[in-house]
Amino acid sequence: MSAHAFTAASPPRSGCSRTHRSYLALLFLLCAGLVCADTAPPLSPNVARFVLANAEFSVMHEMGHMLIAEYDLPVLGREEDAADQLGFILLFRLYAKLPQDEIDARLLDIADYWRLEWQTPKPPPDQVLAWDSHPLDEQRYYNIACLLYGSDMGRLDWVPALTGLPYERAVYCDQEFKQASKAVNWVLHVRRTQAIRHHPGARLEFEPPLINLEETEQLIALLRDENHLQALVNEVFLQFHPPRPLTLRLINCGAPDAWYNINAGEMALCYERLQHFREMAENLPRLRTPVTRQCPGPAGLRPGGC
Ligand SMILES: [Zn+2]
Repeated sequence: MSAHAFTAASPPRSGCSRTHRSYLALLFLLCAGLVCADTAPPLSPNVARFVLANAEFSVMHEMGHMLIAEYDLPVLGREEDAADQLGFILLFRLYAKLPQDEIDARLLDIADYWRLEWQTPKPPPDQVLAWDSHPLDEQRYYNIACLLYGSDMGRLDWVPALTGLPYERAVYCDQEFKQASKAVNWVLHVRRTQAIRHHPGARLEFEPPLINLEETEQLIALLRDENHLQALVNEVFLQFHPPRPLTLRLINCGAPDAWYNINAGEMALCYERLQHFREMAENLPRLRTPVTRQCPGPAGLRPGGC
């Protein structure tokens, strides 16, 4: 299914509950085949954009870990903070060719995801605690909102009010953005001196989904549309030339996770994470993001629903 076919409407799932007795046997036979197979409702453009933006940020965060490891970069502070900053700046630059309101909406979707994680009650095993290597969800929300606002404080003067980013933090966000941007430029400089110029790039692999087959296939189609994710990964590899071939795998994990495995040379993004993004976007109140008015963007970077 192409993302171009997505609509805002969410029709009810088809079912097999007809009651007319004379048709029961026939219905049974039909339902055992394809006619009454459970059909996942289509992704609305708004939900598709949320899933896509957060899937892309997840991948770019892991790319941040990958760059730190592959180039043995010095890291001051927590690596998870550095990976978030690298991921944000990478994505911010990759989005540069998109319409401005689409860029704003996607980056806000990424901040909003962390707000939803923070404000959604969860059992203790699922909570991020103060001792964890990751920042608290609440901190990641404000960190991303600050980087977004700091990218253009004049044009984005509505971001602090919308996100609740306090003045005391917001006033320095341009410096935070510049600092993160400078770090990425430095990594680019390092790779020019260390990289092997000709390399096979990154392989993108989609494992066959094992659960929620129709819904997962829709999410895979969203990422595959116009070679969307592959285009982003190719662009990062083109810029940074990692010193060895690496693989990005979309896989079944049993948990909404993502990681970079230095031993295997693999980045992984779990289907359960995509599904988690989808459920959040469909069921929880989100920040009022700018309406996506202009579709499509350049080939390979089109937002879902266009
Ligand atoms: Zn991480």
